[in-house]
Amino acid sequence: MKMAELCRPFRDIRDRVVDRCYHLFPCLSDPARRSSLGLKVALVMMHLIYVGVLFLFDRDLIEKTRKEPWYTALYLLLFFATLAQYFFTSGSSPGYVLDAMRIANETDARIRKASMASKQPASSKNGNFVVTVDGSQLSKNLLGNNAASWTKMVMDMYPLGTSVRNLTCTYCNVMQPPRAKHCHDCDRCVLQFDHHCVWLGTCIGQGNHCRFWWYICEETALCLWTGILYIQYLKSNISRAWWMDAIMIVLLITLSISLIFLLLLLLFHSYLVLTNQTTYELVRRRRIPYLRGIPERVYPFSQGVCRNLYNFCCARSSIYNMEPLPTAEELADKSRPFTCLDVLTCRCC
Ligand SMILES: [Zn+2]
Ligand SMILES: [Zn+2]
Repeated sequence: MKMAELCRPFRDIRDRVVDRCYHLFPCLSDPARRSSLGLKVALVMMHLIYVGVLFLFDRDLIEKTRKEPWYTALYLLLFFATLAQYFFTSGSSPGYVLDAMRIANETDARIRKASMASKQPASSKNGNFVVTVDGSQLSKNLLGNNAASWTKMVMDMYPLGTSVRNLTCTYCNVMQPPRAKHCHDCDRCVLQFDHHCVWLGTCIGQGNHCRFWWYICEETALCLWTGILYIQYLKSNISRAWWMDAIMIVLLITLSISLIFLLLLLLFHSYLVLTNQTTYELVRRRRIPYLRGIPERVYPFSQGVCRNLYNFCCARSSIYNMEPLPTAEELADKSRPFTCLDVLTCRCC
């Protein structure tokens, strides 16, 4: 009892400090955002420790920097580019269905307004010449299809007879286009949902999958280069304390484990890009209604390796690049076994 009373002033001070922090940084009052921020700080600290220890211990590297500054400059450039890419990806939108719906409906409303205005009779000077512009053509050009609103746009992407009720997300109360999924961490539906990345604190979806791929590519290169520098340090003949070697070996072991994980992740996501799949579709293939019954080796959204790569790098982040479900004929064509002629004509490309 006495102990609790003794601790009370400290508890009050702590509560006041925490309250002041939440007042200054309102985002910290949310536990999810707090843990996401904690992970971001941990990741940056990890990067700084690995590079800091290297420059602190390795006198050869300092000597090399004096002789060949471009070598260290390139390494540091990769280091800062990786961190910048991390924050850039973390802050980017994965493409939320609600945002896409708002933009589509606003565009549709604008087109309707323009169409109404253009249908007003515009008399020529002599009063017997009437100009009328059909708005549907205008909408076709702007939206890439003849969509009147989000509902029609989404329904057009599914085969005839699909129920609206089956497509509506019960959390967001919005119609999901094919490949979209509700993320319980973000509490929103994401277009072409891949996965929710804890390290980045955001979802990976249509809007930022390309950035995510570049981030893991840069992180892999940085890990590889740092590993080579660590090995060079351990192999050098300079005299040093045993504990320096012990620290470097422990860091090198954890770095090697991270590198293996990153390499596998990079290969896995490269495979997903080339076949136009998402992690969610690959892992839950049998449970996703639109993929059920499709043979394992058939990639329903794949348009060939080159086209998939182009869409991923250049066009996928656009909300108007949402993909409709393939028709039965298209699926039958994709299921067709490869012949010698297919190989010669590069059918998979
Ligand atoms: Zn949802
Ligand atoms: Zn999420």
